Amino acid sequence: MTSTDSPLPATSDDLEAAASALDAADPLRAYRDAFVGAETSLVYFDGNSLGRPPRASIDRLAAFARDEWGGRLIRGWDESWMQMPFEIGDAIGRAAIGAAPGQTVVGDSTTVLLYKLVRAAFDAQHAADPARVEIVVDRDNFPTDRYLVDGIARERGGGVRWIDVDTSAGVTADALRAAVGPSTAVVLLSHVAYRSGYLADAAAFTAIAHEAGALVVWDLCHSAGSVPVLADEWNFDLAVGCTYKYLNGGPGSPAFAYVAARHQDALAQPIQGWMGAADVFAMGPEYHPAEGMRRFLSGTPPIVGMLAMQDTLALIEEAGIDAIRAKSVALTEFALRAAHELLEPLGVTVASPREPEARGGHVTLSHPAMRAVTARLWSEDVIPDYRDPDGLRIGLSPLSTSFAETLTGLRAVARELG
Ligand SMILES: *Cc1c(COP(=O)(O)O)cnc(C)c1O
Repeated sequence: MTSTDSPLPATSDDLEAAASALDAADPLRAYRDAFVGAETSLVYFDGNSLGRPPRASIDRLAAFARDEWGGRLIRGWDESWMQMPFEIGDAIGRAAIGAAPGQTVVGDSTTVLLYKLVRAAFDAQHAADPARVEIVVDRDNFPTDRYLVDGIARERGGGVRWIDVDTSAGVTADALRAAVGPSTAVVLLSHVAYRSGYLADAAAFTAIAHEAGALVVWDLCHSAGSVPVLADEWNFDLAVGCTYKYLNGGPGSPAFAYVAARHQDALAQPIQGWMGAADVFAMGPEYHPAEGMRRFLSGTPPIVGMLAMQDTLALIEEAGIDAIRAKSVALTEFALRAAHELLEPLGVTVASPREPEARGGHVTLSHPAMRAVTARLWSEDVIPDYRDPDGLRIGLSPLSTSFAETLTGLRAVARELG
């Protein structure tokens, strides 16, 4: 249902003026043109699930198919492809997660990399101290994170310690402190909660887990490329993140893994494949893990899938992650202001932290009608996403979302509810 004649609140003009002023003053506004589709009137609130394609990636993908795959054929592996998981991993480390070279690699899906790292960390901790048998995770973490932790605990004869959380917020320092102790092997936490957008204090939480003798695996899916991460400075052990969200790698682009240099040679990941072996082409009778990050690979790297993310990584490096975060905060602040003026009078509640320092790049707005509203909005080219029980998730990609687009989208939500 669309109606162009529904009366808008008196504040609507102020919001319009505010959006124009914010766009005019936005130092990153030119970056929007670097993305396919930014010239259309479509409103995209789902860059935190699947980022828009960079225009440069179209040429990059075509040139790769023609010149490298087509021209170099199998020689491409020796000439450049074998190194790409490490080179692009280092670029992610530099542009987005504060990791010095040699600690980040692009590999399998997020799910598979999380499995490999959580299990490697569990095994190392349990071997060093047999009393460490628990994996700590919160009940509102992303499904794949909860499912794989449950599976690893069963597979290794361990247990899961669940942290209860407010689904409009996330894990607190006190809740984490109460959950970790001498029986904790590993803690798995999301830096930005996929539902509420809650931003965890990753440095403080890492310190809390370390005081209890635990290792932490950070899930960076909703922070990499939108919120500054300082993996080395914050003393991270391990981390995994998506590349098809704020890194715009395209549907199903492979995830990255970070392993702090101090842990690399002590961890054994469970999927022992030839690409992680010390001498890949020796093809010997037994598996001996490579030194450094190669041991965290298993099979042939998905090269085609890791091409596009390089274009967004270049944009992030150029713009700077701190400027990106500043824009992200301004976008979510503006979205909450517009929601307050246009949607809260219609019964919508905010299911995300109000304080910008406790919030990542998206906000969730709740109302019993949101499932139906989402379906109607998609058919009119306004694209948020829906998360149970009744949340409309507004993802705001700092490089490609404008304030005017944000207002247009929220006005469409108001029309649907009004
Ligand atoms: C998107 C997301 C995933 C996705 O995992 P895949 O293996 O890529 O499907 C995992 N964890 C979190 C927190 C996510 O937001």
